[in-house]
Amino acid sequence: MFKIKKSLAILGSTGSIGTQALSIVRARPEMFEVFLLSANSNCELLYKQAKIFKPKHIVVNTQEAYIFLKKNVKKTTTISMGVDNLCQIVQLPEIDLVLSAIVGSAGLRPTISAILANKNIALANKESLVVAGELVMRLAKENSIDFLPVDSEHSAIFQCLVGEDFKSVDRLILTASGGPFLNRPKKQFNNISISDALKHPNWKMGKKITIDSATLMNKGFELIEAYWLFGLSEKCIDIIIHPESIIHSLVEFVDGSTKAQLGVPDMTTPILYALGFPKRIKYPFKSLNLIDYSKLTFFQPDKLRFPHLQLAYDCLKRGGSSTCSLNAANEIAVNAFLNKKISFVNMFKLIEMSLEKSIFVDDPSLEDYLHVDSETRKITSELISKI
Ligand code: NAD
Ligand code: MG
Repeated sequence: MFKIKKSLAILGSTGSIGTQALSIVRARPEMFEVFLLSANSNCELLYKQAKIFKPKHIVVNTQEAYIFLKKNVKKTTTISMGVDNLCQIVQLPEIDLVLSAIVGSAGLRPTISAILANKNIALANKESLVVAGELVMRLAKENSIDFLPVDSEHSAIFQCLVGEDFKSVDRLILTASGGPFLNRPKKQFNNISISDALKHPNWKMGKKITIDSATLMNKGFELIEAYWLFGLSEKCIDIIIHPESIIHSLVEFVDGSTKAQLGVPDMTTPILYALGFPKRIKYPFKSLNLIDYSKLTFFQPDKLRFPHLQLAYDCLKRGGSSTCSLNAANEIAVNAFLNKKISFVNMFKLIEMSLEKSIFVDDPSLEDYLHVDSETRKITSELISKI
């Protein structure tokens, strides 16, 4: 039977991306329905979401949330707990599109599970590609999956590539806002507070990616994400600072033509594009008035003040499990900073020390990646007290 509505699985439904996606679903009920919602532990919000969207399944990650939802949500919704259940439910045939928007390496296994079930995947969880890009892309190819990128830069590139022969691409140019410390001298990095680092000039996002944007680790991860998604050597992927965040990224072609995608900084646009693909969804939006942005500026990134970026290049070049370790060390470092255990500058020191000690696997399997991830977390956590 011909289906009119896309049936969605929203992984990370309580987060910044997840809630924005659900706002779209709510506004366009004739296009979408929700089959599965999943999140870590925010049971109050999940309860509200269950009431509005009436999913068939909710999967949480903590016992407390599981008990609360089991008691309070209508019996027409099945409540389950843990990643193994999530990996099974995400494969159910009713699901047309999976929005992978869990934060961190916790998103890897559910994303792989969705790939193995041949789902269309709107990918926000860039960490899946940072941790295990080689494996994820191999499985995606074997299962004929084309990811629909949600990250604004990768969505921009994806949009620029529509109708193009990929062999005609010479260079990808990822733009970066530069974060809140773009103009802060290195000497003043020592007194950066948590609230300073959480004040992103252009984007309102989850805490982890906001800190990654302040260190430029996020842009390093996006380099790795672009490398795997678009299959171009890192030498052909440039990063350019563009503080206004109006041009979301660019593609240069072999004939000297360059295409860009523009818009006001609002994640709704790339989420809409991924959810609606191959169609565009009509939606109320804030128009880009170029007169308001009469000066668009561009700079080279400063890898001396933001050494995380160089680390991403180095780990990508080394290959194997290097970027998996980088991600794990970074997740621990960001958490330690947010919990006032280390300073902003010591995040870099901690990651660097951790990478020196972490194990390396040349051609990792999923089990190897999971092992490297958990070992690096242990190593990094132990190093916190030595910093
Ligand atoms: P967030 O912190 O706001 O939300 C994260 C979501 O993941 C929450 O629903 C949380 O409950 C869930 N989660 C966390 N740990 C989990 C676990 N162990 N098991 C199951 N669920 C878990 O994060 P966000 O800003 O929405 O980012 C989500 C992903 O999208 C990240 O990978 C991020 O890099 C990417 N992304 C976000 C933005 C943005 O604007 N927020 C932009 C581009 C890319
Ligand atoms: Mg981005």
